[in-house]
Amino acid sequence: MAVSDHLAASKLRMLEKHLKARGISDERVLAAMQRVPREEFVPGPLRSHAYDDRALPVELGQTISQPYTVAFMAQAAQLHGDERVLEIGTGTGYGAAVLACLAKEVFTIERWPALLETATPRLNRLGFENVCTKLEDGSLGWAEQSPFDVIVVTAAAERLPAAFLNQLTEGGRIIIPIGDSGSGQTMIRFTRQYGELREESLGRFSFVPLVCDL
Ligand code: SAH
Repeated sequence: MAVSDHLAASKLRMLEKHLKARGISDERVLAAMQRVPREEFVPGPLRSHAYDDRALPVELGQTISQPYTVAFMAQAAQLHGDERVLEIGTGTGYGAAVLACLAKEVFTIERWPALLETATPRLNRLGFENVCTKLEDGSLGWAEQSPFDVIVVTAAAERLPAAFLNQLTEGGRIIIPIGDSGSGQTMIRFTRQYGELREESLGRFSFVPLVCDL
């Protein structure tokens, strides 16, 4: 089978078996997962595994998140297309690309220069023009661009960074895995209501740690 046929078949399997069968039902999320070429975001030797439903290793001991996890967070964010989204942990740019298909603008922050130096031109080359990247400790948020309708954190935090509440619109959502990086985390959706945060637990996941430089 040609490489492109293999990728197309494994992408279809990902959509049916790993996403739809496991509860991803938002049609816009499924369309975004179909549209974004994950093989462009993984290291060359792992291209043929691009649509396996698992996190894959990338540079600097970091990972590209599992497709199910990316789709789960995107669905939990309840995006309709006109939102401004902040993502913490650009990594390869894959999650930002998926969010860019679902929202108006995506602002994404990464703390490792080497990761951003690959992710930013990659997102440009693939035509994701509504994504803006920045090198910083993302636990501070991005005050100049705030407020955001959604904040998605793609690394495990011990607690919710304090800066986020003031950078969130009323009715806005924060999707964040909270817990110790060793023992796994609980995905939490915080929703801002009357200036306070309502908290919902969405299940157990496993992420690399959010590293706070301050
Ligand atoms: N969304 C990424 C997966 C990211 S893995 C993708 O789709 O490829 C988590 C990322 O968070 C890593 O790249 C890690 O370097 C980054 N990270 C960890 N702590 C951070 C911080 N304080 N600020 C910004 N990025 C951080």
